[in-house]
Amino acid sequence: MSECLFCKIAARTIPATLIYEDEMLVAFDDVNPQAPTHTLVIPRKHVVSIAELHDSDVGLLGRLMLVGNKIAQQKGIAGDGYRFVVNTGVHGGQSVSHLHLHVLGGRHLAWPPG
Ligand code: 5GP
Ligand code: ZN
Repeated sequence: MSECLFCKIAARTIPATLIYEDEMLVAFDDVNPQAPTHTLVIPRKHVVSIAELHDSDVGLLGRLMLVGNKIAQQKGIAGDGYRFVVNTGVHGGQSVSHLHLHVLGGRHLAWPPG
């Protein structure tokens, strides 16, 4: 078993509030939410960051965002709007080295980010 935290969540070795899952992706609520809705969508396969994806991953990338939309609808934030964030690397503020899409909403989100 991988030592990766999000691989463990996908494998259900570590508990999380699962919102969605299919053969490719898993979504769960962030343990430290930054907005009323803060859900993470991850691929089941271990990918360190979006920077590691290749042309052959276009399907995975598309599904990641479409599932993000589905979660926004499911959480009731689609009408007012929401934000997708993919922190990448050190300057991007990535703290978990397994690709994840943040789905944030339920309040007005400031711009620009810090
Ligand atoms: P990053 O900073 O890498 O873009 O985002 C990582 C996110 O994972 C953070 O928002 C953090 O709160 C969340 N996180 C870290 N550990 C856990 C955990 O054990 N369970 C859940 N559900 N979220 C986690
Ligand atoms: Zn992983």
